[in-house]
Amino acid sequence: MSENVERVLFTEEMRKTHTILIPDMLPRHFKLIAAIMRNYGYKVELLQNCGAGVTENGLKYVHNDSCYPAQLVIGQFIDAIKSGKYDPRNVALMLTQTGGGCRASNYIALLRKALARAGYPYIPIISLNFSGLESNPGFKITFSLLRKLVYAVLLGDLMMRLVNQSRPYEVVKGSADELADSWTAKLADKLVNEKGYNYKKVRKEFYNIVNDFTALECVRVPKTRVGIVGEIYVKFSPLGNNHLEDFLVEENCEPVFAGLVDFAMYCVYNSIADYELYHRDKLKKIAFSMAYKYLIKKQHHIDEALTSTGVFRGFCDFDHTRSLIDGYIGIGMKMGEGWLLTAEMLELIDDGVNNIVCVQPFGCLPNHIAGRGVIHKIKQLHPEANIAAIDYDPSTSPVNQHNRIKLMLANMETGKSEEETNTSDTREPLSV
Ligand code: SF4
Repeated sequence: MSENVERVLFTEEMRKTHTILIPDMLPRHFKLIAAIMRNYGYKVELLQNCGAGVTENGLKYVHNDSCYPAQLVIGQFIDAIKSGKYDPRNVALMLTQTGGGCRASNYIALLRKALARAGYPYIPIISLNFSGLESNPGFKITFSLLRKLVYAVLLGDLMMRLVNQSRPYEVVKGSADELADSWTAKLADKLVNEKGYNYKKVRKEFYNIVNDFTALECVRVPKTRVGIVGEIYVKFSPLGNNHLEDFLVEENCEPVFAGLVDFAMYCVYNSIADYELYHRDKLKKIAFSMAYKYLIKKQHHIDEALTSTGVFRGFCDFDHTRSLIDGYIGIGMKMGEGWLLTAEMLELIDDGVNNIVCVQPFGCLPNHIAGRGVIHKIKQLHPEANIAAIDYDPSTSPVNQHNRIKLMLANMETGKSEEETNTSDTREPLSV
């Protein structure tokens, strides 16, 4: 069969007839984005299907040397379409495209081929991108929608941070998630339907949300904080990381993530770096410098709200985080998560979070270089760091991954290094 697959457009008429399926990458953020899109008149559903069907379809329809996130995202789509829950003639699929040099920019082509092989060449794919890659007549990112998507990212970061710092201590199990869900519904409605709901009001809302979480019944006994860094999909998606966050909470730990805004600032800063390193496009540099300053300012606003009641920890200053990579990795290393991955590990250590899980998906060369590749150097200069690089691929069992993490946590107590306990390969079963 020919590998050239015709592109099917998402037309204006399809807005009324088609349900847009979105992969479950960042549950907290994507719930809000889906709710906003619904209020804009799109029929949207955030996929929640998981299990063997997802990996089996990923392996069947995506080339097996493609990176694991590609297999999972495409597998989740095809598994959902085959489930019988949707009419395949009336669904469209939405994927993000970063526009960078990494494979994430090419997932759309892989998805088209996979759909054709699975017998659904007529399903339209919508690219969610901000770099002018693909567009569709039925889906337009207007200035008003873009503004709301930016607010959704800021609010998603805030709620993710609050849930992570509340869930391990909540008295009523599930209450932190419930509170975040009720805020998500309220915010989606206000963002779309309330006249004059501008950034000034959103900023006020930051404080209202923080106050509500401060009032949540919690017993804040000290717990081990464990940082999670790595490739963006596997880091945030419970499907990608086998519910790592839940596992850490069950192990009496508090998971610590950087926000999605950090990733956005990393992408924006890379265009500034292009000018600094290669003297590319001065106008682009000026525009991206403005966007960078905008995001820095917005993250400071979230930070001020987060720390206002004295209960929650805020975000690290991104300029400081960026400066930490000096001597470890260059700013030109910007494929995948690139220098950001190294920076996030150093930021955690700088913040006293010495236990770090570095999630490494199969087939992800850039993140193996910027993640596993720098751990030795980090440990040389920060002997207190307790970092475990954990592999994620379709054949690795969650039991092995969890054992590795338990061993890492045990190392924290004994003070042993990863090399001493020989935990470098997740594929061998380990008992602790
Ligand atoms: S960063 Fe890694 S996992 Fe993500 S698209 Fe690139 S190669 Fe794949």
